[in-house]
Amino acid sequence: MINLPTGLFDLVPASDVAKGKWWQRGIYLVQGCSKVSAGCLNCWSETYETGRCQRDFSKINPRWDRIKELGRGAPQLWSVWNDLFHPAVPDGFIIEVLDRMCSWRWPSKAAERAGDESALVDPGHGYLILTKRPERINPWVDWVGETVPGDTPFNVSMESPPGWPEHVWVGTSVEGPEQIGRIEELLRAPVAGRFVSFEPLLGGLSLDRCLGICKHWKSKDGRNKIPWHPEDKTKIHYKKQGLVSVDYKKIDWVIIGAESGANRRECKIEWVRDLVRQCKAADVPVFVKQLHINGKVEKDINNFPKDLRIREFPGKG
Ligand code: SF4
Repeated sequence: MINLPTGLFDLVPASDVAKGKWWQRGIYLVQGCSKVSAGCLNCWSETYETGRCQRDFSKINPRWDRIKELGRGAPQLWSVWNDLFHPAVPDGFIIEVLDRMCSWRWPSKAAERAGDESALVDPGHGYLILTKRPERINPWVDWVGETVPGDTPFNVSMESPPGWPEHVWVGTSVEGPEQIGRIEELLRAPVAGRFVSFEPLLGGLSLDRCLGICKHWKSKDGRNKIPWHPEDKTKIHYKKQGLVSVDYKKIDWVIIGAESGANRRECKIEWVRDLVRQCKAADVPVFVKQLHINGKVEKDINNFPKDLRIREFPGKG
């Protein structure tokens, strides 16, 4: 089982949770994006960038200058915007981001001047990376393994147990049954904490193979993690590849939200209720962000139906 970093999700203040926020601080590391599925139709980021910022949203602009903001100050739970795994974002940018997320820091200028690396401290931040392109994660990890010298902070983490840094969670957005393949892609990625954001939820879904506990196989260096299902290859096949078997929770966290904005599309309460039921059956924490009630977007949990007043975080119940 994944050991959650203690207190990672305690960082989100109760006042933010009351507003339906499941992160503490957002950061635009990539400006611009391109639409990939129905959930993108009313993209709030496009509205923000083309309206308020007067930017060309189709131009992908990795903000190298902002990477240094990560890990600064008191521990926070960050949410990374827009899509870090967009195909136009360079591999080298993503490794800079992950290296920064995995870097320790000097406790003082004096310690930095002395250069004693044993004085470095863990800044204690957590990161949530949400992507609609999880299929890029595995090729990117392969690229890192083949190209990037082994002593970068991210590589050091990958090469020592448990592998992928546990304070960096990766999630994918799924709006309906047509996007379920994104969850399968996320399951194939060698990340630690995995979450799925069903926002905007545009249809009912069955998550048969995506929730609950299952076995998977991983290499000793933690890079290669393969979810295993009874109809997949035999155990001997994996053992021959030097992989070891471990139990893990497939999806660690689920977020559900109806679409907001003037052009919002329908989100039926029964779709939400059914997803919550599936999460409960599989013991997966679920965070109900917002619902459509009486034609309005309702964020106040006190106005939700009683059975949907649920804003859970991993490790907190
Ligand atoms: S992937 Fe996200 S940021 Fe990009 S267009 Fe779609 S909704 Fe907008």
